[in-house]
Amino acid sequence: METENTNIPEMFGSLVFNDRVMKERLSEDVYASLRKTIDENVRLDDKVAEAVAEKMKEWALENGATHFTHWFQPLTGVTAEKHDSFIEPTKNGGVMMEFSGKELIKGEPDASSFPSGGLRATFEARGYTAWDPTSYAFIKDHTLCIPTAFCSYSGEALDKKTPLLRSMQAINRQAKRVLKLFGNEVNHVNTSVGPEQEYFLIDQKLFNQRTDLVYTGRTLFGCRPPKGQEMDDHYFGVIKPRVAEFMQDLDRELWKLGILAKTEHNEVAPAQHELAPIYTTTNIAADHNQLTMEIMQKVAKRHGMVCLLHEKPFAGVNGSGKHNNWSLSTDTGVNLLSPGETPYENAQFLLFLCAVIQAVDDYQDLLRLSVATAGNDHRLGANEAPPAIISVFLGDELTGILQAIKNDVPYEGKEKVQMKLGVHALPRFFRDTTDRNRTSPFAFTGNKFEFRSLGSSNSIACANIMLNSAVAESLRQYADELEKAEDFTTALHDLIKDVIIKHERILFDGNGYGEEWVKEATEVRGLSNLKTTADAMPKLLDQKNMEMLIRHKVFNEAEIHSRCEIMLENYCKTVNIEGLTMVDMVRKDYLPAIEEYLYTLSRAVDSMKSVNQNLKCRYEISTMEKLTDLTDNILTSVEELEKSLADLKNCKDIFETSAAIRDLVLPNMSTLRSYVDAAEMLTSAKYWPYPSYGKLLFSVQ
Ligand code: ADP
Ligand code: MG
Repeated sequence: METENTNIPEMFGSLVFNDRVMKERLSEDVYASLRKTIDENVRLDDKVAEAVAEKMKEWALENGATHFTHWFQPLTGVTAEKHDSFIEPTKNGGVMMEFSGKELIKGEPDASSFPSGGLRATFEARGYTAWDPTSYAFIKDHTLCIPTAFCSYSGEALDKKTPLLRSMQAINRQAKRVLKLFGNEVNHVNTSVGPEQEYFLIDQKLFNQRTDLVYTGRTLFGCRPPKGQEMDDHYFGVIKPRVAEFMQDLDRELWKLGILAKTEHNEVAPAQHELAPIYTTTNIAADHNQLTMEIMQKVAKRHGMVCLLHEKPFAGVNGSGKHNNWSLSTDTGVNLLSPGETPYENAQFLLFLCAVIQAVDDYQDLLRLSVATAGNDHRLGANEAPPAIISVFLGDELTGILQAIKNDVPYEGKEKVQMKLGVHALPRFFRDTTDRNRTSPFAFTGNKFEFRSLGSSNSIACANIMLNSAVAESLRQYADELEKAEDFTTALHDLIKDVIIKHERILFDGNGYGEEWVKEATEVRGLSNLKTTADAMPKLLDQKNMEMLIRHKVFNEAEIHSRCEIMLENYCKTVNIEGLTMVDMVRKDYLPAIEEYLYTLSRAVDSMKSVNQNLKCRYEISTMEKLTDLTDNILTSVEELEKSLADLKNCKDIFETSAAIRDLVLPNMSTLRSYVDAAEMLTSAKYWPYPSYGKLLFSVQ
């Protein structure tokens, strides 16, 4: 172990065609022009691509690769790859290992089965993939993986990466305009993200026995075990040896791929854990998070476990989310969400802070829908994750400063200062301890914002596309206004004050789980409370949202419609599969199992009474009474569920279908579950057909 550990710097990134490798292997000219493409988005020359491909192939072959693939992120939310080997036949019947610049830059997967929401008619199956040189190529399973964007032939984005890159360009453009007004000319403003990833680990054998986990990734039935998470003994607790081995193995796999896996710990629920990497540029963070999720599942299998990435694998204990730590910084290394040392830097910080506050307020619905999936709907608002209502937490100090600016009164911090922007230095902000309550969906944490509504299986691309675009829009408005101002400092002060007044309704530091907050947020403040995917997703088509996304060239109109449709389809398909799985489990396993137990009980009563007529058989008879009531109810509700599922085909469009899923199918599923779970409590464990919650949650020791 010891000797292996000392090699970590050597092992780190050993399977990545990264800057170090490029510098070593590419000629000076080729390296310089590729670097320009990576750093400044300059178009890549064909000759350069050819030279890079040659060296990339050499490196990949040396590292055991036999195949290459364009690795991309279609709208299914998982990654896709189609492997080609490097072999080319030679005249003498042998093969050579070949890889051209063209193959590096562009691929043409037959992608007719990926969802396109009508963007690409299925007869026009061809989409193409285009190399994203800003994310390094890597080797996975003997395959050189080239991160790519995926587009239709008419140029529409069929993936999550293209709009993410566009949103990064949008925020770069607008942030540079604003910085220029402060006298800061920079080449590039970049957003960065550190996504904290939660997951569950359960025993593979038990997983295989649960039809619901196998088909849907979550348990659809299961009564509460005697012990859940109430003792708080798992959170940050000692990591069990089997899990520790998994984590070590996982870290190594991730490090080889250049992923900065940093922190691993137990989470709140039994069997729940978290991995946090060190933050990096957003599109790379998105690629790395996809890879992390994939490798977690692979490594878990090696250890006889299954890694569950579902947002709510078990009722009654916390589900899993993903915290999206987000900030923006310049190519000169300045974090724009960190208050600087001088008054002028502080004013700039406050303006960027305002840009985020305004963005979250103006585009609450876009942020909400960017994390909306059938799985995540179980968490948001269930008092374990932030509510579906989006608000911003700033902490006492920053709130105090904004209040002082708004009211033109001295700020009563450590020393009293009249806040005149550009004149007075702000105090340093420390991460507010109150943010530990974790009930805020969007919290300022010292020098970054933490968007906490993401589900554990979400691609982080969606949330960051919306966040980057919305902040770009605030910055655009500020730049437009300040560029024409005669007195910059006064205009800036007025602007900031104005933003605080207009958008303070989105600021909330209290308990986001409370009922009072829902009332205040919706009735007094007019914030939106989009509880389900079916409620949230159609907001993508609201005029103000479409206009903003189109203005910043993040999506075109057709792309927006296609995404709305695909996300809703995804929601409907997911719940439909869950419903069908429930029907299957109830009809084939639960009802027959309960019946068998009832039969045993009734035979027991018969035999006992034949020995002694006067025996009461209270346990047997009362259990039979309760269980037969339950089986009647189970039958009625399974029939209702079947009917609501069958009726879906009568819906006229995806909006109607998703509403029916929300209003009929999901409530029917929940009623059915409650009867089956009640029956589980009364039935002998010997007869119960599926492993219990207790076994699943406490199986890994
Ligand atoms: P926690 O929220 O668990 O207390 P931290 O706040 O220390 O953990 O860090 C969580 C994540 O935030 C890590 O992935 C870290 O790299 C990331 N992070 C730290 N600084 C920044 C930043 N400036 N921009 C984006 N992410 C950041
Ligand atoms: Mg966090």
